[in-house]
Amino acid sequence: LGTLATAFDVRLLSECASTNSELIDAPPTNDGRIAVVVTDRQTAGRGRRGRLWQSWPGGSLTFSALWRFQPGAPVPAGLSLVAGLAVVRALEKLGVEGLQLKWPNDVLVHGDKLAGILVELLPGRGRTPAAVVGIGLNLRLPAGASIPDQPGVTDLAAHLAELPDRSALLASLLAELHALFETYAAAGFPALRGAWQQRNAFADLPVRVSGEGRELDGICAGVDEDGALLIRSDDGLVRILSGEVSLRVR
Ligand code: ATP
Repeated sequence: LGTLATAFDVRLLSECASTNSELIDAPPTNDGRIAVVVTDRQTAGRGRRGRLWQSWPGGSLTFSALWRFQPGAPVPAGLSLVAGLAVVRALEKLGVEGLQLKWPNDVLVHGDKLAGILVELLPGRGRTPAAVVGIGLNLRLPAGASIPDQPGVTDLAAHLAELPDRSALLASLLAELHALFETYAAAGFPALRGAWQQRNAFADLPVRVSGEGRELDGICAGVDEDGALLIRSDDGLVRILSGEVSLRVR
C-alpha cells in the first residue's frame, strides 16, 4: 500500500446504516489524511433523492471517503463525475471492458448499472469545505436479487474471470480517486472532461431528462467545462447543472 497507507485513514465497520452518514454525522478531525469508512454490511444505503442503494454482505463493496478542499474553493459540482471516472479507470486497469459513465453518478457496463456514487457536501461552517464521496459497487449479486426501477443491473463477477481481493480493489479505487481529485483540485473539471466524454454512455443519443417538475427531450451533447449536462433540444442547447434529475435514453 506504500504511500496510500499514509494518505488514508481506513476504518472497517462490520455493519453500519450508511458509510456516507458515518462520515457526515461525525466527521473525523483533520489529521491531514483522507478518512475512509468501509463496511461489510450497509443497512440503509442511499442513492440520490432518498432512494435506496442495495448491497449484500460479501457481494458488494461499499465505502465512503471524506475529501477536504482549500478554503474558498468553488463548490465542487463536477465531483461525482470525477469519482465516476476514477471508478472506471480503476476497473479498466483490472481488465473490465465496456465501462461507461451515465451523468451524473452511475457507472455502467454495456448499459447495465455496476456502481453508484453519492456525493454529499458538508456545510463549511467556517471550516475547510468538504465532500463525502460514497461508492457502492456490485461484486457478485445474489441469485434472484431484484432492484426496483433499474432496467439493467450487473456485477463485477460477470465481467472478470476472477474477482479481485476486496482490499486490493479498495486500494486501487482509492489510489485512482486520489489521483483524479488532485488533478481536479489543481486544474478543475476541464482537465478531465475529455476522458469523461469518451465514456459517456448516452453520447449523441436521444434522451429524456426528468425531475424537478419538468421533462426535456433532446440529444445528449456531453458535458461542459463545469460538468453540467448538455442537451440539444428543439429550443437550442440546454445546460443542466443540478443532479436532482434523471436521465433516460428514449
Ligand atoms: P437513475 O438511474 O434513475 O438516474 P439514479 O442515478 O438517480 O437513478 P441513484 O440515486 O444513484 O440512482 O441510485 C438509486 C437507484 O439505484 C435505486 O433507485 C435503484 O433503482 C438502483 N439501485 C439500488 N441498488 C442498486 C445496486 N446494488 N445496483 C444497481 N442499481 C441499484
